[in-house]
Amino acid sequence: MSVRIKTPNLDDIFEKWKQRASRTDRKKMEKEFGTKGAVFSLDAISAAEYVKDTMKEAAIYFAVKKSLGPAPKGKEENTVTAPRVGREQFYSFKGTGKINKEEWKGNEIVPQFESIQAIPCKTCKGKGYLENKCKTCKGTGKIEETLTVLVGEEQNKVKKPFTYPCGACYGTGTRTEPCKECGGHKNLYKYEELPVPFQTVVTGVPILHSSAQTKYEKEIGDDLHKMIEDVEGIRFSDFKELDSKAEASLGYWNKNIKKTIGSAGNDYKAYEKDKDAQITTQIYLFPMIQMFAETKRGKRFEIYSLGSGTKFMVYSNF
Ligand SMILES: [Zn+2]
Ligand SMILES: [Zn+2]
Repeated sequence: MSVRIKTPNLDDIFEKWKQRASRTDRKKMEKEFGTKGAVFSLDAISAAEYVKDTMKEAAIYFAVKKSLGPAPKGKEENTVTAPRVGREQFYSFKGTGKINKEEWKGNEIVPQFESIQAIPCKTCKGKGYLENKCKTCKGTGKIEETLTVLVGEEQNKVKKPFTYPCGACYGTGTRTEPCKECGGHKNLYKYEELPVPFQTVVTGVPILHSSAQTKYEKEIGDDLHKMIEDVEGIRFSDFKELDSKAEASLGYWNKNIKKTIGSAGNDYKAYEKDKDAQITTQIYLFPMIQMFAETKRGKRFEIYSLGSGTKFMVYSNF
């Protein structure tokens, strides 16, 4: 035997929406439904006048706990010159404990300070400079010149060699130049980009599947999740049972409802298999009413109800 759930009365849904909308934004209600020169009254706003169309749909809800685990594994190594180390933003988690992923601002994989490591430069073998043959003296360490000397009374021109130490290499024949690879800093520096050590947090996530063609499914699901105790639906412990009793429980049926039950069932199965997820509630089937309404000023909006005639919630994009 299936229990038939009574859907809320359309006027009751509209009334609940109207009361809430006027509490949250009375000015907007006056603007959209008021009459110029007349005292504004909520009583004049009726479903009969402003609801253009109504659809009887269904929604399926369950909640899962999902663990937000550590960031995806990954490790990247960078090797840079000493001055570039200072241009990188490093992070340290030494002794800080695990990080709350919800509060974390920034990348999930970051350069870590403790991983900085000096690597001797291969090009200069860690000396910071290279020894090259002196260009001025071609590596001889000496500058050779030929002087023209005037000899004797006749002042005959005689060529004489004159050698002196090269001033560019101080007579050594070699010149040292800073190594271009390490910029003269002897070392290059290696560091790692590692995942931020997030703590494994478990959060409750509402899963809602509805047969209504709506872009507000996520918002409706979030609202429902908060007030699930105050909304009446029919509970099932598995989809097989739900599938066989849904039509009789709702008292109405359409192709979209059938399709929705199918896709919700597949989603449910996927969560059952997911190691990081845990289904924490039974499966709820809710009657869902979708109303297409239009204000006096011609602004279109939608009202949704989920639940039974005695315990239902209202959502609207008004
Ligand atoms: Zn070098
Ligand atoms: Zn020289």
